[in-house]
This record gives sequence, structure tokens and C-alpha cells, in this order.
Amino acid sequence: MPTVKNWQLGREMSYPYDARYPSRQFAFVFNINRCIACQSCTMACKSTWTFSKGQEHMWWANVETKPYGGYPKWWDVRILEQLEEANPGGQVWTSKAGAGRFGPYGRFDGQTIFEAASRTLSPDSARVLGYLPSDEEWNAPNIYEDNPVGKRGVRNRLDETGETLPVHNTWFFYLARICNHCSYPACLAACPRKAIYKRPEDGIVLLDQAECRGYRKCVEACPYKKSMYRGNTRTSEKCVACYPRVEGTDPETAGEPMETVCMAACIGQIRMQGLVKVAEDGTWAEDRQHPLYFLVHVAKVALPLYPQFGTQPNGYYIPPRWVPRPYLRQMFGPGVDAAIDNYASPSRELLAVLQLFRRSNRIIYRYAIEEGPKIFEGSLHGRNIEIFNDTVIAFGQDGRELFRTTVEEPVHVRSAAHANSI
Ligand code: SF4
Ligand code: SF4
Ligand code: SF4
Repeated sequence: MPTVKNWQLGREMSYPYDARYPSRQFAFVFNINRCIACQSCTMACKSTWTFSKGQEHMWWANVETKPYGGYPKWWDVRILEQLEEANPGGQVWTSKAGAGRFGPYGRFDGQTIFEAASRTLSPDSARVLGYLPSDEEWNAPNIYEDNPVGKRGVRNRLDETGETLPVHNTWFFYLARICNHCSYPACLAACPRKAIYKRPEDGIVLLDQAECRGYRKCVEACPYKKSMYRGNTRTSEKCVACYPRVEGTDPETAGEPMETVCMAACIGQIRMQGLVKVAEDGTWAEDRQHPLYFLVHVAKVALPLYPQFGTQPNGYYIPPRWVPRPYLRQMFGPGVDAAIDNYASPSRELLAVLQLFRRSNRIIYRYAIEEGPKIFEGSLHGRNIEIFNDTVIAFGQDGRELFRTTVEEPVHVRSAAHANSI
């Protein structure tokens, strides 16, 4: 099997195909701290792409309550168990976090789903460790919504003491998920028909319906379970990253690339999606003023979801501040502690960049900051902090200004004449 470089794991790994990278990669950051599980994203995707007969159980975008919720049920627990079985006690990260763009979280020495496949009893045709969920497991997309982990880890048994940071005794959080448009897609690796491909211009992973014969190898292989089978057409389907919008062909924007509908609909303003530059070795090319590059590689507040699976997912999460760290570390890797520290005491630049979330549905390619006056001085978590009312300016693909916004949100006072009107 060829070897490829996985920068999230800080090492080379086996993958069924030689490495080929797009010039730009579809990527996104979700700030879990802000998600309210309103499911507007879920319904935006559903009503755009999966409203037809045979797609009733398909939720390309979903939001699940962790740790008990999951769509399909137990998806992450099941694949983690399989990995543990293939490599008992060996799923560990070693060595220190690197300073560069390769291995920023250290080195993962465990087995990925591609490497572990050769150690198990899967049929000869299986190139990836995985499993096919049962029909029942796809039945309840929002099972265990708002069920917390209570006292001594028991579901719904609430701790009667009040909750304070840094870690709550009673906790849950919302995990919003779409396809990660992985750099090393497991769905693509597993497809015997070569019906799945990754676009060279934006890294979006698409499934060719004309080529698919419904073998469901992609459903079995995707560790995030984001490829789904449709019984009435006997083909599989997956998130298409709303590619007409990303291409700028939606009539609304006159050619300007636009974020996907699940991003644009986000009420909690937790989502930002973009197209990051990719270097020849598959790492993110340095692009200091790109907001996603800044959040992932400079501020280091956004982390990949289950990087240990090995697909190099392009979805990143700002982890929830109140959740026990061991749970978060197994989900987002060893960068969790630094990410929460950096987010809880944000730098001046990070505070400004966080204001870019959901001020527009256009894709941001670059930002700039104009410094403003100091508006607050005090202490937070034992550190002295200052807050400045900086202005952050977003630019689009062609360098045109998309919008500008400030750290301090403006207050609008409704006139007395209209105090009671909508
Ligand atoms: S998340 Fe799953 S379906 Fe999406 S690209 Fe990765 S392996 Fe394929
Ligand atoms: S990117 Fe588009 S197709 Fe994919 S989950 Fe979001 S709305 Fe659905
Ligand atoms: S729309 Fe945003 S806030 Fe609402 S559930 Fe989806 S990700 Fe969370």
C-alpha cells in the first residue's frame, strides 16, 4: 500500500492510493461553545438536498448530544472499539506538539482505520476498518438529546452542586456534523467502482450516482458514517458541500463563492467555512490572514474531529470549555488543553477573528484588522486582560471587501414610537 503524509498525525501512514492534493481545500470551523442545537443547519440541508422519497432517514447535516447521542447510533463508540480491538492499548499519541504545520499535536503512534484493516478478519475486499450500521441505528437521528452525564458518570443523574468552570460535574454538549471532505477519504478508498472522487479545485468529495452500484462499501468504511444508502435507487449518497454555492454559481452572489446552506442557516453563529490553500506536501500552505488558517494553525483553537481515524478530516472544532478533558482528548486529540486555554483567554487578534462568524454568507479569503480604542480592562482566570474595540474586515475571492464588523456589538435603541412593534 502506498504511504502518504498525514500532518494531523505527524507521520506517514498507509493509504490505498498515492497522495494527490487539491489546490484549495473545502474546510470549516465549528465553535461548539456556541451551538444551541436549534437544528436550523440540519433542516436547511434536509430541505435543500434530502427531501425526496427514499431519503427519509438521510441527514447529511446533523447535530447530536454528546456523549450519548449519535447518528447513526453509537457510530464513534463502535469504530473506536474496533480500533482498540485491532490494536489493544496502542491508540496513543507520543512526542511533543510540533511548532510547524506538520504534527502540531504531536505524533500518533496508534493504528488508523487504513492500517488496522490489515490486522483484522475483514473480507479481502475490505480496504478500511469499518462496519455497516443496522437499519435501526439510522432510525433516531437525535436520540438522547439533552441527556447529560450526571454524578459519577451516570446518565441523567444530576449533580446537585452548582456548576463552575473549568469542568462541570453534570455535562453534555452539541456536536454538529457534516461530511469532513477528508484529505484521505475512507469512502473513496473503499469503493470498488471508483465512483467517489475528490475534486482537484476544492477538495470536495463527491459520489457519482451513475457509477455507484450500491455495494455500500463507502457506508461501511466512512468512520464518521457520512455516506448513506438509499434503498429506492439502490445507490449511496453523501453531502455534496453545496458545491454550486461554493463555486459561486448561485445567482444570488454574482459569481462570488458562497458558504453552504447549513453554514448560512446557523442561528448560533458557530460556523465558518472556507477554502484553504494546500501546499505540495498536503499541509496547509502558509496563509496568515486567512481566518481558518489563523484559527487552526496560529491561534490553535480549532481541532480536527477524531484525527486518529487517519482520514485527515477538514472539519475543525473549538472544543467546549466545560467538558472533562479526557473525553475531549479522545475526540479531538492532545491539542485540547491548549485550545481551551487560548479560547478562554483570547488574544486581541483572536477576539477580532471570532467576530467574523456568520456576518455574511460569502466565503472569506482574507481578513485585516484596524485597531480601535481600549474598552475594558480587568482580570480573567487570574490573568490581566484588555479588550479593544477593533474593526475586522473580511475580503472575498477577488479581493473585494465583503463586510466589516467590530469587537463590541453596536446597541440599537428602538424609538419609543415603535417600542412595541416588530
Ligand atoms: S467524512 Fe466520510 S464520507 Fe466524508 S469524505 Fe470523509 S470518509 Fe468520505
Ligand atoms: S454542506 Fe450542503 S450538502 Fe453538506 S451537509 Fe451542509 S447543507 Fe448539506
Ligand atoms: S444551526 Fe448552528 S447553532 Fe443551530 S444546531 Fe446547527 S450548528 Fe448549532
